[in-house]
Amino acid sequence: MLTLATSVQYLKGVGEKRAELLAKLGIRTVGDLLSHFPRQYEDWSAVLPIASAPRGESICVRGTALAAPVERRIRKGLTLYTFSVSDASALMRVTLFNNPYAAQKIKPGEAYLFFGTLTGGTVPEMSSPLIESAETGARIRPIYPLTAGLNSKYIEKLVSTAMLALGEQLDRDLLPDSLRREQHLCTRRYALENIHFPADREALETARRRLVFEELLLLQLGLLGIKGRSLAETAVKVHRDYTEEFCSSLPFTLTGAQSRAVKDCVEDMRRSTPMNRLLQGDVGSGKTAVAACVAYTAIRNGWQCVMMAPTEILARQHQESLKKLFADKPNVRVGLLTGSLTKAQKRAVLEQVESGECQLLVGTHAVLSEAVQFAALGLVITDEQHRFGVRQRAALAAKGMHPHLLVMSATPIPRTLALMVYGDLDVSVLNELPPGRTPIETYAIDTAKRERAYGYIRKFLNEGRQAYIVCPLVEEGETDLVAAEAYAKQLAAGPFQGYTVGLLHGKMKAKDKEQTMRDFAENRLSLLVSTTVVEVGMDVPNAVLMVVENAERFGLAQLHQLRGRVGRGKYASTCILISDAQNAEAVRRLKVMCETTDGFKIADADLQLRGPGDFFGDRQHGLPELKIADLLNDMSVLHEAQAAARALHDGDPSLERPENALLRDAVATLFTRTGEQGLN
Ligand code: ADP
Ligand code: MG
Repeated sequence: MLTLATSVQYLKGVGEKRAELLAKLGIRTVGDLLSHFPRQYEDWSAVLPIASAPRGESICVRGTALAAPVERRIRKGLTLYTFSVSDASALMRVTLFNNPYAAQKIKPGEAYLFFGTLTGGTVPEMSSPLIESAETGARIRPIYPLTAGLNSKYIEKLVSTAMLALGEQLDRDLLPDSLRREQHLCTRRYALENIHFPADREALETARRRLVFEELLLLQLGLLGIKGRSLAETAVKVHRDYTEEFCSSLPFTLTGAQSRAVKDCVEDMRRSTPMNRLLQGDVGSGKTAVAACVAYTAIRNGWQCVMMAPTEILARQHQESLKKLFADKPNVRVGLLTGSLTKAQKRAVLEQVESGECQLLVGTHAVLSEAVQFAALGLVITDEQHRFGVRQRAALAAKGMHPHLLVMSATPIPRTLALMVYGDLDVSVLNELPPGRTPIETYAIDTAKRERAYGYIRKFLNEGRQAYIVCPLVEEGETDLVAAEAYAKQLAAGPFQGYTVGLLHGKMKAKDKEQTMRDFAENRLSLLVSTTVVEVGMDVPNAVLMVVENAERFGLAQLHQLRGRVGRGKYASTCILISDAQNAEAVRRLKVMCETTDGFKIADADLQLRGPGDFFGDRQHGLPELKIADLLNDMSVLHEAQAAARALHDGDPSLERPENALLRDAVATLFTRTGEQGLN
């Protein structure tokens, strides 16, 4: 008996060759075939009168052939077949090229449907239209994603064969009846029939909604399952909340958003399962203070805490800001572990960590290496390490620890997408900046105004402020280094003669990089010329200008990160984007930057401009590929599916009830195929 799991080779019309071609489209089983959804449709059911149908668009008309096609050989290899058809409204000329087969089928007096583009004047014309019998052709036809050697009609035929052969099996619905009714969804059979062969537009919409819902539901259930598994582990006990004690000596009051995030974290840590939380907040939203506050509660409960940064420079910066935040807390000792420490320094830190004398260890990924033994690690905080990977978690587990985890990220991802990507994490969002910030003004200018921009910068430097200039991105073949060096030299000898100009680029030795950053942070340099290495984490409140050359070459997210380097102190800041770009998308990007500083708005715009596919780069996020749902337009269904998944999961966490059995299998299949590691 044919089932969804049967290889397509068992279908009539599929030999070895075709099976190979189908495999290229990801179609191996009958089930794959049924979920090979049309990429678009041709609507042969919306028949228009020839006289009033729009010209220059794909449309469908119904006409009676007035005579048999006339063959005309124009030259070798080019034969035309022409004939006239009419509907009640007008006459139309049809031309077929080198297509005796189609021409032969046209019988005078018979009615046909013609799908194509109308052109011409007094007598409208259609060249090489698709032609179907008027009796059976008036329907919405699927157009399938294809590969060379297969055509859409073939796949259509195959789908129809498979559906017939499956018979009653199509009535097996993954979704429990109760859920289906609650969500006003059609049956699986109806959905499959109408996504491939829609009865009409409405049926297509109904079918699509059901399939989108199903797909997103499976995804969410899978993610909840993964989250559930990590919850099963034993956890570090945190009994008391020390937030107030920590805040009493802070030089500022936490913003509402910061307080909420701290509360979320402390609540997580008080549960008997480890915290798995993403703290998402724009640059400058004060994630470090949240981290410090949460760490303080963990530490006062007798635990150690680790904070990981992606680079040494950032680690050092974190250590410095944490030291300040814990300045009057003698019971918290902040240590730093990076590759550039001397052996003796390293040993000293390791000893303090092992004895428990150091409660808060800051560093790069080295902090979780073999050599580091903790007395009692209770909390791991990561900053801008987008996926705290399975390996790091395994490393921790190997040490017999299941600490709480707080992942911090300034990468603005629309919230719904964040829930998808970090589906195994809970999310807190800092959607409010600390008070007293002056908003950053952003201007996009063309290169003709560059000299004026330099003048503007000098004015601020003369007042004692500092500025960043981000170098042009290099063309292929050039090296980053040469371009940056040449550019810095040119600025120092020209418009910024007499000012202290520093250079920062990715190929510098860590030590030199650090020295330059320090010089800039301590105001020994007025102007920092830099490649995008400056993007991550520099915090110099006295720097009030950010200039980005070739701004069109940067993505919105990156521009946003760069701009976040200024506006960090009490001075009003400006960002100048220099670009001569004319193309619409680049212009639109720069316009978005000028209009808003809200990272989430920018992320939404980015999503609109680029679509979600690009958003995560390649498939590193480890999520299964979406076959039908479109994260841009199906947001409302995503919310519904999320809520439904949560309800299902709460009632039946392992989907053990008989009515959920098919769902459970489908979730398992979906995630096995993707390779689940990516999700951890
Ligand atoms: P992020 O890491 O989210 O980009 P930071 O933690 O570096 O932001 O905070 C940016 C600056 O804001 C720091 O100088 C910090 O001391 C300050 N800050 C944080 N929270 C507050 C607050 N509630 N009120 C005033 N200043 C704050
Ligand atoms: Mg930060």
